[in-house]
Amino acid sequence: MVQIKTETTVVRKLKGIKLNANVTLGTETEYGEVLFTEYGISGPAIFSLSSRLDNQTEISLDIMPEYPYDKVCEMIYIRMCQNPNLPLENFFVGMLNKRVGQALLKYCKVEPLSRYSVTMSEKEVERICKTIKCWNFKIEGTMSWNNAQVTKGGAVTDEFNPNTMESKYEKGLYAAGEVLDIDGDCGGYNLQWAWSSGYIAGSEAGEGGDDL
Ligand SMILES: Cc1cc2nc3c(=O)[nH]c(=O)nc-3n(C[C@H](O)[C@H](O)[C@H](O)COP(=O)(O)OP(=O)(O)OC[C@H]3O[C@@H](n4cnc5c(N)ncnc54)[C@H](O)[C@@H]3O)c2cc1C
Repeated sequence: MVQIKTETTVVRKLKGIKLNANVTLGTETEYGEVLFTEYGISGPAIFSLSSRLDNQTEISLDIMPEYPYDKVCEMIYIRMCQNPNLPLENFFVGMLNKRVGQALLKYCKVEPLSRYSVTMSEKEVERICKTIKCWNFKIEGTMSWNNAQVTKGGAVTDEFNPNTMESKYEKGLYAAGEVLDIDGDCGGYNLQWAWSSGYIAGSEAGEGGDDL
């Protein structure tokens, strides 16, 4: 589970901003927090999907997952009517993070940001709504193993007794935590597994350690 590197034009400008999004990679979608970084995207939703990264070339974010496409368009038109003389640079304040709103407009080539909101054309609004619901980022790889939070793979679980964590084949050999082929989603499951299995393995390996 590791951060995903993307083309950096957009993400670099949004470095440090977190938002909740539906993230889609191939046929898989995960809802969760996304963090923009100078090299790409991070956060729990990205970590989960990173383990399923194969040869996909794009990852997409729906940054207003709570609203369907039509509702997003409606919200934008209502804003335009209510604030016709609002400069575009402030148009999304209260709807999206200000910097995200500005990056979105630039990405959709709705510029300059000093324009008044009322000047947006139907086509421009359509481009913005489509991007809000499906903002594609070109994948350029992942961060390295050294940055990973959890590693998939490891010693075969069937070869260890789950009650003692001792190898079924090598007496006196115990395993716990990530060295075994067990990994969980973000949310404390990996730490819990490491502590629980470590407690059992340590108690069993220690002298008379069976007071569980
Ligand atoms: C940045 C980061 C954030 C994470 N966040 C979360 C999270 O929010 N929730 C969650 O559930 N999990 C999280 N994890 C994963 C979780 O920390 C690990 O799954 C868990 O710590 C694994 O425990 P472990 O005891 O198996 O291995 P480790 O914690 O890696 O412990 C292995 C120990 O063995 C030592 N060691 C290695 N080789 C030798 C050697 N030859 N001789 C002696 N000692 C050696 C290492 O120095 C290390 O101290 C995160 C991991 C990282 C890196």
